[in-house]
Amino acid sequence: MPRTRGYPRANSQRRFNAQPTLGRRPEMVTASKTSFGKFFLPGPTEVRPEVLEAMTRPLIGHRGKEMVALMERLGPRLSMIFRTRRPVWISTSSATGLMEAAIRNCVRRRVLCLTNGAFAERFQRIALACGKEAVALEVFWGRTHEPDQVAGAVKGRGYDAVTVVHSETSTGALNPVAEIAQAIHEVSPDTLVLVDAVSSLAGAPIETDAWGLDFVLAGAQKALALPPGLAFGVASERVLVRAGDVPGRGIYFDFLGFEESAKDRQTINTPAISLLFALDAQLERIEAEGIESRWARHRAMAESTAEWVASARDRLGLDLDILAPPGRRSPTVTCITLPAGLRGPQVNERMKAQGFTIATGYGKLKETSIRIGHMGDHTVAELGAVLCALEGVLRA
Ligand SMILES: *Cc1c(COP(=O)(O)O)cnc(C)c1O
Repeated sequence: MPRTRGYPRANSQRRFNAQPTLGRRPEMVTASKTSFGKFFLPGPTEVRPEVLEAMTRPLIGHRGKEMVALMERLGPRLSMIFRTRRPVWISTSSATGLMEAAIRNCVRRRVLCLTNGAFAERFQRIALACGKEAVALEVFWGRTHEPDQVAGAVKGRGYDAVTVVHSETSTGALNPVAEIAQAIHEVSPDTLVLVDAVSSLAGAPIETDAWGLDFVLAGAQKALALPPGLAFGVASERVLVRAGDVPGRGIYFDFLGFEESAKDRQTINTPAISLLFALDAQLERIEAEGIESRWARHRAMAESTAEWVASARDRLGLDLDILAPPGRRSPTVTCITLPAGLRGPQVNERMKAQGFTIATGYGKLKETSIRIGHMGDHTVAELGAVLCALEGVLRA
């Protein structure tokens, strides 16, 4: 057969199998498949090779039928994760973009920012930078806000909105957002509740509609286990009414624009189309797992981390602890305080030498703590290997 001369059929078949993805060297595919389970930053998190591969699909036009079909697949699955009937907006930006958008669309004049860590403080800094009067209700890093105290701070003060971070990634503390929102609605019905759920969404239970949250935002690169570059937001009807009333919302982050284009199953500007392909692949995986199973898996990872800290403290005789108090710990990230004499960056370097990536403490906690991001697609078994390596490092 002249067609196969020089290219034996069996051989070309083998070559095809060895190189399933165009433009990608086979050893790279193999490497990324076997190394999963080594990267435990609290964002960006490890992304499954098949999700990364989805980004190599050929591009499509963002005003065509294929995009509408893609958005129709994404929409209901995102709403399922946010537990909302409202459309979930997709923003081509990092999550900080939607934090700024929340301020610019929801705050006429005054906002109360509940601060207990670096990201909560970032919300206040953004509000100040947008020219708003931003008052902080501050508790120590690692602590959380409690509904009574928030109600006391909000009542009769005429705040347009309150910002709160659900899972504070810098400390591993989880704010009781459902109770806080309820307390705010009771004492100040016109005050909007703006929630940063960047490191909680898809890892910790969050009920946008049932908890009466006015705006919830999240990023792609935390518990959703996607590459960075996309952010997601969902707004109540009250937010849209408010936004219509607030001047200076700008263009790129105008909520009325987001709502309008979501109705047409479109985005306002050219979206990061390749990232939408990754999102499509990952939402299919998340749906197959089930959101409640995903929450349970994260809770199990946080619990096994806490159990290890308690037992390692006893077995090694080291003064190890978890920064956030029991009952107020995030299921997605744990901040472990180190004994005197051990430094965060040093522990991380030694973990790196074992092939594991974890994080130091954040900002002012950098030297005195480490953080493990047990979020995204990791399992208790993979986490066990990290904790085992960490024990070896601490013993040394
Ligand atoms: C990571 C993170 C952010 C910032 O997200 P970017 O995508 O880097 O802008 C904000 N809030 C929390 C709680 C985070 O964990």
